[in-house]
Amino acid sequence: MTAGDATRAETPPTGRLSGKVALVTGAGRMRSIGRAIAAELARSGADVVLTGTSNSAQPRTDEERDSGWRDVESVAAEVRELGTRAVTAVTDIADEDSVRNTLSTAFKEFGGVDILVNNAAAARAEDRVPVTDLDTDVWDRVLRINLRGTFLMSKHFARQLVDQGHGGSIVNISSLAGKLGSANSSAYCASKAAVQSLTSSMAQELGGEQIRVNALCPGIISTSRLDDLPQSTWAKIIADRVPLGRAGSAHDVAAAVAFLTSDEGRWITGQSWNIDGGQLTIR
Ligand code: NDP
Repeated sequence: MTAGDATRAETPPTGRLSGKVALVTGAGRMRSIGRAIAAELARSGADVVLTGTSNSAQPRTDEERDSGWRDVESVAAEVRELGTRAVTAVTDIADEDSVRNTLSTAFKEFGGVDILVNNAAAARAEDRVPVTDLDTDVWDRVLRINLRGTFLMSKHFARQLVDQGHGGSIVNISSLAGKLGSANSSAYCASKAAVQSLTSSMAQELGGEQIRVNALCPGIISTSRLDDLPQSTWAKIIADRVPLGRAGSAHDVAAAVAFLTSDEGRWITGQSWNIDGGQLTIR
């Protein structure tokens, strides 16, 4: 799917996160939600730690290849242009040692981290088949990254937040798919439903420490993740299901992250909010 510039400033800088440090996982792709979140948090005044993977050297799209896109290094450069500090790390969120190393680097580099955005997820790939055809290894890979990875990042980050003693915020990028379910994506849907459940448990456990834990459930967001289907297919799905009549932009998700992690969201925890153009209402 095509999108405008993911870093486009659709809102004026607010400074509402000045003095805060945020860590965003899976933030390296050119047309991605993670890039927009990093930019929006920087625009709000936060310093940002960006994680990429060992796939980072592989361009995903023609635009990435043609522009010499450098994954998290390019996003870090954008953050610095917005006037805040950025550091990058290669992290496998499903590997506990990798998670520990990244968090310890981030806490040392900035002297503390206040915000974690669990944005990384397994790519749409051979998991998009009926359960009866789904390889167990493929099921395990999706659950390992989406659920175990979110769990590991959250667990180790929350421990550090408790030690810091001045609260903090975690935002998990779940998916509307975790509420709706759908055919041919059972592993993804199950993993994202479980992320919402993890969000609820952690919010209840950590509220006393003033650590807030929320999830966002994007609907159809225009990123390169959805390039596996033709634009015409997405256009039909949007026409049939999305009252606001368009795909969301990465910025639509990023704006909600900036709000939730700021002081304006201070009485909101344990929620799984839909960012979906009205595709799912009431729940
Ligand atoms: P992207 O594929 O760009 O973002 C996912 C990122 O996760 C990639 O940068 C990927 O890195 C990284 N990643 C994959 N595996 C690991 C791992 N083991 N450890 C660390 N990082 C890893 O997609 P989007 O920007 O579209 O999606 C961002 C989030 O939003 C995801 O959680 C997705 O499920 C969710 N979402 C997206 C929707 C959409 O319509 N786009 C709808 C609903 C939810 P690399 O590319 O280098 O492998």
